[in-house]
Amino acid sequence: MSELAPYAVTDARSRGRRVAEPSPRTRSEFQRDRDRIVHSTAFRRLEYKTQVFVNHEGDLFRTRLTHSIEVAQIARSIARALNLNDDLAEAIALAHDLGHTPFGHAGQDALNECMGEHGGFEHNLQSLRIVELLEQRYAAFDGLNLLFETREGILKHCSPARARTLGDLGERFLQGWQPSMEAQICNLADEIAYNNHDVDDGLRSGLISLEQLQDVELFRRHLGEVDRAFPQLADRRRIHETIRRVIDAQVTDLLNETRKRIIEAAPRSLTDVHATPPLVGFSDVMYRENNALKGFLREQLYRHYQVVRMTSKARRIISDLFAAFMTEPRLLPPQYLAMAASAGKARAAADYIAGMTDRYAIKEYRRLFAVGEV
Ligand code: MG
Repeated sequence: MSELAPYAVTDARSRGRRVAEPSPRTRSEFQRDRDRIVHSTAFRRLEYKTQVFVNHEGDLFRTRLTHSIEVAQIARSIARALNLNDDLAEAIALAHDLGHTPFGHAGQDALNECMGEHGGFEHNLQSLRIVELLEQRYAAFDGLNLLFETREGILKHCSPARARTLGDLGERFLQGWQPSMEAQICNLADEIAYNNHDVDDGLRSGLISLEQLQDVELFRRHLGEVDRAFPQLADRRRIHETIRRVIDAQVTDLLNETRKRIIEAAPRSLTDVHATPPLVGFSDVMYRENNALKGFLREQLYRHYQVVRMTSKARRIISDLFAAFMTEPRLLPPQYLAMAASAGKARAAADYIAGMTDRYAIKEYRRLFAVGEV
């Protein structure tokens, strides 16, 4: 492995852990963070949480787990190509969605509405809450006691009011600093992964078609390339060959643009990275093409009536569960009832609901509301 860039995050440059621990013997500090994330309960639950499609709709669709692994793959490749810390990029990518509610964005919106008068609910902050508090497995600390830079990467955005409550982690939102380049990479790797796999899942589900995708320049161009090279290809292979070209085009564009920005800004240290506008990014052309793809997915897939029906049911499940726990906190399992004593019943109910998988939430709903279920 070639040497890391002078502006990469390294063990030696890390701001460290909240609770001091002896250095790992066989791994780097950031490998240890990644491994702690992989062994967490919240990580395993990602298998049964979805973004667009509800888990029981079919076994072929992405779940939050496979999404996180795809993000980690893309982030690691980019980090390595830029001589940045790919262990850190991988750790952030694997943890970035830990705080997601069941039922994807619909679940998050519903829980945020429920929490309106109790400080709101934001999956990004919830991911942080999980790694700092809710995972209770280690003897010496709550959470996973991750390194500062891993936690910084998990916290993508944050209001100034909230930032003031977060101590050292909130600083950069108040000062207008950028996170590490490894964290910046994860943000864009997340976009590259979900835009492309949502196209794939959207096509597989039949909710969008290849004909519709001809309106999206990024796809039209690469689909045309595939059709010219392989005129007789069956649709499954045609779709995959197109998507892999789009991912490659986006990663290549991002690498070229980022290298250009590095040359222009000439960062010499991590401090320079914090003080410079985002160094990781798409070119203007790719930025626009990527936005067009996002717009297409929003209109044609996320707002498809079949998806809307599913998400409206999901919202109802979440808000009914929340209302039940608020009215009768003793319905909460003991560890969440204990949390209610310190964090308030609304936050405890939100922690419990956010931790549920899609199918667990459905089961819990039946247990609480259906006559004859236990
Ligand atoms: Mg994500």
